[in-house]
Amino acid sequence: MLRFAPSPTGDMNIANLRVALFNYIVAKQKGEDLVIRIEDTDKEKNIEGKDKEILEILALFGIEYSQVIYQSQNIRFHSAMALQLLHDKKAFSCFCSSQWLENKQEEDKKDKKAYRYDDACRNLPAELVIDNTAPFTVRIARPDKPIIIKDYIRGEVSFEPDAVDSFIIMRQDKTPTYYFACAVDDMLSDISIVIRSEDYMSSLPKQEHIRNSLNYDKKIEYAHLPIILNDDGKKMSKRDDASSVKWLLEEGYLPEAISNYLILIGNKPPKEIFNTQEAIEWFSLDNISKSPARFDINMLKDINREHLKNLDAKELSRYVGFADEEIGELARIYLEEARTTKELKSKISPIFATRDIPQELEKSVKLLKETIIKAPYFEEYDDFEKFLMKETGLKENNFFKPLRLLLTNAEHGPDISAIYRYLKNYLGEIIK
Ligand code: GLU
Repeated sequence: MLRFAPSPTGDMNIANLRVALFNYIVAKQKGEDLVIRIEDTDKEKNIEGKDKEILEILALFGIEYSQVIYQSQNIRFHSAMALQLLHDKKAFSCFCSSQWLENKQEEDKKDKKAYRYDDACRNLPAELVIDNTAPFTVRIARPDKPIIIKDYIRGEVSFEPDAVDSFIIMRQDKTPTYYFACAVDDMLSDISIVIRSEDYMSSLPKQEHIRNSLNYDKKIEYAHLPIILNDDGKKMSKRDDASSVKWLLEEGYLPEAISNYLILIGNKPPKEIFNTQEAIEWFSLDNISKSPARFDINMLKDINREHLKNLDAKELSRYVGFADEEIGELARIYLEEARTTKELKSKISPIFATRDIPQELEKSVKLLKETIIKAPYFEEYDDFEKFLMKETGLKENNFFKPLRLLLTNAEHGPDISAIYRYLKNYLGEIIK
């Protein structure tokens, strides 16, 4: 079983989506199920409705899963596991106050030492524990040997016991911390491989230590994906519009193009343009680069254009607000100068909008308009052109400039003869 474990605390970003896609692909390759685990235990950070939004995005990207689990519903299991650790003396109650711990942290900071808990409460005699009415957290006792893990992307990584520390697994209010809930849930769901962002690398030894302490002997494999950088070489964040999946969709990038791009970066695909189903055939975590991937919106735009070209005419026309094959074909021609559906719409919609004719062209446009209204139907552009030239007496630029404006509502654009084929049935509507 694989899992995608988003927190419902913000918009889905491209790094999350990349993690979801990789999990989906690997689950398909292994013939295992993918579960979605909504990590909602941090009540204060949860945003109402984000879980639904994440699931909608997954559906839009064709990421199928067998089940949605809400982490908060597993709290009774988290408590039971904490109790077992306490019972086995692998965890202990910690009565240190937040103030006391903060002071300790300050001291270590002053001494330029990395803060570690000093295990003050680790060996408290039972009488002291039982008589203590102060609030307490539950800490897991630090490991006694290094934790060594093989990561698909990072290779072998080793963590010293001190780096793991005796850390908190249950807060004073007896809710589980992220490390604990996540480690236990991965056990409960029988996860075979965890694919997630490199941001969670530091929680890796803690989670491994939790499961070791619970005597869970199944080896979970790991792949921590490198971060994605923006143009300035900094980690993509909320400040970069393009990091938001919602923004990319609104800007007119197709889900299949976004997926293509996110599977492609930092990878060695056999070709540049593909869909997720094809990627299942050749994808391998072994090919993912250790270095951060750089986000290049221009490359995404080029890929988007290729996916737009692959749509059939009717589908393409829907993206520009029609449901008509001819408009789809017309839009296909405009793909020469547009790479997103938003750009494409900004080319097609004006064709059907009222024209704003500059004064110097008013006369010739009017003349052309009247002539077109009276003209018979011409199948071929050449005949249409010949007829108009003859009837109006307009020549060269005095003919082409107003004609282009009249037909396309733009000064420049694709060859009129190429688009006439798809516009000829709409002439009445266009020039009204
Ligand atoms: N909940 C974390 C997130 O929002 C993921 C943690 C994990 O995958 O282990 O990215």
